[in-house]
Amino acid sequence: METKRIRRQQQQQQQPSPGTGFHEPENEHGASFFEEGASQAGPERKPLWGSVRPPAVFAGFLLMLLPLIAIIYSRTPSLDWICNCRAGRVEGRAESFEATAKHGSENCSFASSNITKADFVNENVTKNDFPQNNVTEDNSLQKNATEDNNLQKNIAEDNILRKNVTEDKLLGGLLAAGFDESSCLSRYQSVLYRKESPHKPSPYLLERLRKHEALQKKCGPNTEPYKKAIDRLKPLGKGYSNETTECSYLTVMPFSGLGNRIISLTSAFLYALLTNRVLLIERRSGIGDLFCEPFPDTSWLLPHDFPPGNQFRSLSKTSPQCFGNLLKNKVMDSGINGSSNESPSPYVFLNLANGYSDFDQLFFCEDDQRLLRKIPWLLVSSNQYFVPALFFIPTFEEELTRLFPERDTVFHHLGRYLFHPTNPVWGLITRSYESYLAKADERVGLQIRVFNGRTSPLECLNRILKCALEEKLLPNISLHGPVVSPSTGAKSKVVLITSLDSTYFEKIRRMYWEHPTATGEIISVYQPSHEGVEQTGKTMHEMKAWAEIYLLSLSDTLVTSTWSTFGYVAQGLAGLKPLITLIPSNPDCRLAMSMEPCFHFPPFYGCKANTSVDAGAVLPYVRHCEDMKNGLKLVGLNEP
Ligand code: GDP
Repeated sequence: METKRIRRQQQQQQQPSPGTGFHEPENEHGASFFEEGASQAGPERKPLWGSVRPPAVFAGFLLMLLPLIAIIYSRTPSLDWICNCRAGRVEGRAESFEATAKHGSENCSFASSNITKADFVNENVTKNDFPQNNVTEDNSLQKNATEDNNLQKNIAEDNILRKNVTEDKLLGGLLAAGFDESSCLSRYQSVLYRKESPHKPSPYLLERLRKHEALQKKCGPNTEPYKKAIDRLKPLGKGYSNETTECSYLTVMPFSGLGNRIISLTSAFLYALLTNRVLLIERRSGIGDLFCEPFPDTSWLLPHDFPPGNQFRSLSKTSPQCFGNLLKNKVMDSGINGSSNESPSPYVFLNLANGYSDFDQLFFCEDDQRLLRKIPWLLVSSNQYFVPALFFIPTFEEELTRLFPERDTVFHHLGRYLFHPTNPVWGLITRSYESYLAKADERVGLQIRVFNGRTSPLECLNRILKCALEEKLLPNISLHGPVVSPSTGAKSKVVLITSLDSTYFEKIRRMYWEHPTATGEIISVYQPSHEGVEQTGKTMHEMKAWAEIYLLSLSDTLVTSTWSTFGYVAQGLAGLKPLITLIPSNPDCRLAMSMEPCFHFPPFYGCKANTSVDAGAVLPYVRHCEDMKNGLKLVGLNEP
């Protein structure tokens, strides 16, 4: 086993895997488990367009794109209008190069998109307006708490629309009955805002959820089993007590942006369910202000006094207690036939974030799982949706297939089960919904997230609009007056835009204000916020982000942005396969194969194979993602 592992490592060093360019480690040492501040809450770094393709290929791509853009121009008045450059196109193009140069970019698509310098000047668009992937210096999770608390107080709970919930408020048995309704209005009111899901949770999933709730209650904070398990963490002389504990625990530190935290928390919950561990969340992940408690009569938040002392604060992927290091240093060894050395440690740190080592990746192997069973405390740090790789572990696969006969509904069910907006967030959601979304015949969600600051926002807008127009999610505008009189009972659509920036909203709203639609449909456009930059850790910012994810999930159709976990959460909660746009090297958008999130950085190696395997070819329902070629996602059994 050990030789195999070392060989694997050597292979990886000598032969960069196909994904090397794509898989950027978050940072050299990874986020430490309990460390406060930027390194903890740093973003998952998505690949930059410029960094994944050599300039020569890029130039070729530009040349290939020119005729396409020309065709689009000739037949899409909406895009033409957006570009605002029907006259003087040639000069405009030259100037756009200039504008691009100012942005320090050689982006082909930008150069070919007929965006004039005037667009930049007129709209006051500067590079600083589009720092999409910037985390401000002030991203410590606890900072600005006072300011945010004041804001929260202003969101009076009695502002929330109170409604009588008579429908299936337990979502087909997914939710437990008996919670105090007023402490978390969204839990039982969501049914009033969402369409009924066509996907029913399996009876076995419901049974296991109820069993898990009982476990959380029996072993949760302040119970006797919890206190005894905490005692196991206290060093005795040079080692630890060997006393067995009644309950085992999985503490989780989800990190990066909110979408990342939601998907990694979901993965951790599923792992806890599969291994009968109590799930407890590190408070500094900032989720207490955003989500209600999902388990009755207990809390899923780690008590304030955990861990005892500062024992775990600095755990990171370089720590000796990190699972990968324990294996590498042969402190733990699954050995032949899975027999193992006893580990004296009552806890193991699991690094399941991007940039994790080959040894860390052995977490996804059956033999290594056997080792972990004996450890009372597992402390996981993750920003990934690692659910698809849990299916690679044979004992889990059996259970998972019983839990999820429809494989592509894991996040859909677990997300709806776990994530209920707190009352202040629910206030943001319901007020937005009732004011701007409820009355429309149809809601179209446009989630716009641009990772590469070098790509012009107008280029992005072109691509997003092209997608929405060609796929008939939105109507074209008519440049020659109304085609159908709005008074004939025309259909109304509302476009819900979520973005850190307001440019997209302004452009689309203006487009539909200044021109009638070719179909006669009435289009309104709404964007709840434009926060400018990511401010992970600021409570009000996070509340708005969560409210917007939730609002997107109430859409009838969705267009999402490549790589964005923000979009993944919305599509999963909605139960919708979105159209994914802004995929590099693909000017068109793609209909997602499933509503599941993508596991961006899955393990590279098969546990039993001597060489790397194509993880997307192991199970028929685990495929490579549309938007990340090495990523993995669950798809339905009938997906061709
Ligand atoms: P990802 O980076 O797109 O995968 O999504 P994450 O949710 O993990 O991180 C992005 C973070 O940026 C979010 O959590 C928000 O804090 C912020 N953000 C990004 N897009 C939006 C948006 O459309 N609206 C709001 N309110 N915040 C956003």
